[in-house]
Amino acid sequence: MRTVKIEKQVPIVGSYDVVVCGGGPAGFIAAITAAREGARTALIERYGFLGGMATAGYVSPISEFKFDDAIVIGGVPWEFIERLEAMDGAFVERDIGNIAFDPERYKLCAQRMVLEAGVTLYTNSYLTGCVCENNIIRQVIIENKNGAEAIESKVFIDATGDADLAYAAHVPMQPMNGESLQPLSTYFILQGVDTSSPMIQEAMHHNKQGKNCHCLPVREKLLEMMKTREMPNFGGPWFCTLLRDGAVTVNMTRTTANACDNRDYARAECQLREDVFTLADLLRQTFPEFKNARVASVAVQAGVRETRRIVGVHTVTGEEYVNAVHYEDSVSHGIHPIDIHSSKQSEQYTYFLKQPAYVPYRALIAPDYPNLLVAGRCLSADRQAFASLRVQGSCMDMGQAAGAAAAQCAASGNPVQKADVPELIAHLKALGARL
Ligand SMILES: Cc1cc2nc3c(=O)[nH]c(=O)nc-3n(C[C@H](O)[C@H](O)[C@H](O)COP(=O)(O)OP(=O)(O)OC[C@H]3O[C@@H](n4cnc5c(N)ncnc54)[C@H](O)[C@@H]3O)c2cc1C
Repeated sequence: MRTVKIEKQVPIVGSYDVVVCGGGPAGFIAAITAAREGARTALIERYGFLGGMATAGYVSPISEFKFDDAIVIGGVPWEFIERLEAMDGAFVERDIGNIAFDPERYKLCAQRMVLEAGVTLYTNSYLTGCVCENNIIRQVIIENKNGAEAIESKVFIDATGDADLAYAAHVPMQPMNGESLQPLSTYFILQGVDTSSPMIQEAMHHNKQGKNCHCLPVREKLLEMMKTREMPNFGGPWFCTLLRDGAVTVNMTRTTANACDNRDYARAECQLREDVFTLADLLRQTFPEFKNARVASVAVQAGVRETRRIVGVHTVTGEEYVNAVHYEDSVSHGIHPIDIHSSKQSEQYTYFLKQPAYVPYRALIAPDYPNLLVAGRCLSADRQAFASLRVQGSCMDMGQAAGAAAAQCAASGNPVQKADVPELIAHLKALGARL
């Protein structure tokens, strides 16, 4: 391939204790936590709003905060949910604490909490690389309308979902085979749905422990139709309330792609946009509950379930996870079922946990990178454990742990591998984490 060499002088526009890359569920909670712990904190986000998959992907509900109706994920994540609820932007389902929400109020609530905590926001800014010397990240490089800019920090948190910062710093990644990645799905919002009908009422509330909340009557009918006609692959479908009459989010499109390959992702997104309208038409033509439904909005981006994950000091395995192994350095929880979607078919493997599982601090750090933590989707976990931990409640819980750890290491000057873990855990408990 022909190449071109670019050399640039890039202005260093900010200097912080903690810089969080990615403003999704893991990242904005990490930034709030770090800032509240007294760290001068910045948050970098490629969009002009926060929330990641929740707001750019319409991924709903937010799973999940409770086990047997008791809160398992507490502290800053739960405070966010309570604030969102008080803004009329969230509905907490009893029993498992799945959260249906209004994406626009979510953006506003996250933004308010981040700014109130004193975080400096770099939105509309794409992280494109870093300056890394002897595995110490000195600056991250962002691109925005001002051109390229550098931001330096004592400690960095990668919460980009795709481990973009860790990848740029050459942190080793878990083996990834494009074929076995979980599928991409583009969510959409349907307006004009008969949300008072018994079928939609049942389907749009995800509140039962030990139950896959897809809409069975629609699924069975579509699978039957699939035998005799060409139609897009689909999953679920899952519908979720948007807290107003007539509107639901729809999760049913799916295709296989590597979202960290730009061209593959572009191809998949175009296909999924076609599928949104094909499937919406099918719903309208087939089910009386959808006869007046129209696509009101398609998510800003195709939803990404699985991409890069780091090889951490410890990799959480599925076996540890289902056995709820408690580590000395447990810093956060997972409670969602192990939930592996097939990218080629409509199927899904689901294993419901018997009790809440744990994430050790060591899964949020790499062995040789003294000032890097990760949170959210890019943690160090095998495919099974990841398939539960990838949901938003657990990502927020990891964000809280990473934010507190980063603030501690920035203050002490210790490498993240030498963090005072007992002190971190005591601190997380004081914040409200249920460890
Ligand atoms: C189809 C689908 C269904 C799902 N269903 C559920 C569900 O029912 N319940 C549930 O809780 N979870 C569900 N999930 C999972 C969940 O939404 C995600 O795994 C979760 O949001 C991950 O959080 P995160 O903060 O790690 O990453 P993300 O939510 O991906 O956030 C990453 C953030 O980083 C930003 N970013 C990325 N790269 C860069 C860059 N280079 N520069 C600057 N910013 C960057 C992004 O814009 C984003 O804001 C689903 C996901 C999908 C795709």
